[in-house]
Amino acid sequence: PVRVRFAPSPTGPLHIGGVRTALFNYLFAKKHQGTFVLRIEDTDQNRYVANAEKYIIDSLNWAEIPFDEGPGKEGKFGPYRQSERKEIYKQYAEELVKKGKAYYAFDTAEELEDLRASYEQKGETFIYNFHNRNSLNNSLKLSPEEVKHKIENGEKYVIRFKIPENEILTLNDLIRGEIKINTNTLDDKVLYKSDGMPTYHLANIVDDHLMEITHVIRGEEWLPSMALHELLYSAFGWEAPQFAHLPLILKPTGKGKLSKRDGDKEGFPVFPLAYTNEETGEVSRGYKEDGYYKEAFVNMLALLGWNPGTEQEIFNMDQLIKTFELEKVNKSGAKFDPEKTKWFQQQYLKSASNEHVTSDFKELLAKKNIVVSDEKLLKIVQSVKERAVFVKDLEELSDYFFTAPSTYEEKAVKKNWKEDTANLMQELMILLQNSEKFDSESLEKEVKAWIEQKEIGFGKIMQPLRLSLVGALKGAHLFDIMDIIGKEETILRIKNGIE
Ligand code: GLU
Repeated sequence: PVRVRFAPSPTGPLHIGGVRTALFNYLFAKKHQGTFVLRIEDTDQNRYVANAEKYIIDSLNWAEIPFDEGPGKEGKFGPYRQSERKEIYKQYAEELVKKGKAYYAFDTAEELEDLRASYEQKGETFIYNFHNRNSLNNSLKLSPEEVKHKIENGEKYVIRFKIPENEILTLNDLIRGEIKINTNTLDDKVLYKSDGMPTYHLANIVDDHLMEITHVIRGEEWLPSMALHELLYSAFGWEAPQFAHLPLILKPTGKGKLSKRDGDKEGFPVFPLAYTNEETGEVSRGYKEDGYYKEAFVNMLALLGWNPGTEQEIFNMDQLIKTFELEKVNKSGAKFDPEKTKWFQQQYLKSASNEHVTSDFKELLAKKNIVVSDEKLLKIVQSVKERAVFVKDLEELSDYFFTAPSTYEEKAVKKNWKEDTANLMQELMILLQNSEKFDSESLEKEVKAWIEQKEIGFGKIMQPLRLSLVGALKGAHLFDIMDIIGKEETILRIKNGIE
């Protein structure tokens, strides 16, 4: 059975790249009736940010990307926080030492720093691996007694993986295909740190193995670690999962990776939910708070680096699950497009039922103490929804329904308010006064007939009428406006317009 995991480190808020990784894991799991695991990789105590885990879970909940197992949803592979699995990792590191595939290293930070500096002077980069490991301060060089002595003396040490020398590895990535790599380019990564914590590499491999993960789907920034991970699996004698590295998400310009800092600067959110940095008090915008529907957000994310190879762009979650294929994920970076993101939102707003939008809009108005009857609000929504991207846009688009114009757009008045306009408006007012049915359709018929009968241009009436009702040459279908604001208000506004 397929088992996948999303394994974020709680070092801050998840940005949209992280949510996309979660989404692709989820889609793949559901497509194959598999299990989606959330694992919190919190072994790096220096980078730990309180509340980040909550933020991650809140984000997944909002986007409706539910995990089957994870913190608070214990399955038989828990616990799902690495900090709660601390005791597990050491034995595995020791196991590799016993097998001769890893070693204790006592080099101090200063010693390594000096080495790095001296290499740099020679114009080289220091790599801790086969070409120098036998001369450094580690258990490959020291006698077993010396090692035992040092450890018993409480000397600090790390456990390093002994990368095999001069092997050509052939790696297979489900998205990128075959990748060849010479092990001589790899360094002897630390697996176990002197603070008693595993590094990401060890904990990640051990947990993926113990949690029976079948497919590792993660961001491209982890591609360089794939060789090490494969080597670790084979050092343990475990079967490795299959790997799929997702393309980077690029800045809208296409130049460079989209970063957490890009959003607020450029005027679009990069986080699913708004986030307050507890240290600086800085607030970053979120898709949810900006007014995006989660369905639009998810749809947009799904198409960042994947497409089904057809023209279809609008997918709900079920359709995504059905259509998603790892093989169709692109190799090249996916340019993030804030305008396209808005377009998705607009499509979802358009297709949302008027009743649904009305109830969201009503809530928003209520916060501003504006109370409108449901019936009237529904009509307003119907008449302006087409032009909105977000529910919050409806307010601006419909302000004239709630308040009569207090000023009139000057240029438009000059152009459209002629000598005979006042008289015509007067006549129209009387016509409307006497009209029995004040609904949009009847009004349209009646007013049009009257204009035709008078044999005057359409614009001669419609433009000044719009100016009177709205104050500018904008807004919904004119007869809808009259219908919605009602007879009394229509007449009052025309009257005010004449004066
Ligand atoms: N903890 C890693 C991260 O924060 C997980 C990488 C992986 O999926 O292996 O991205």
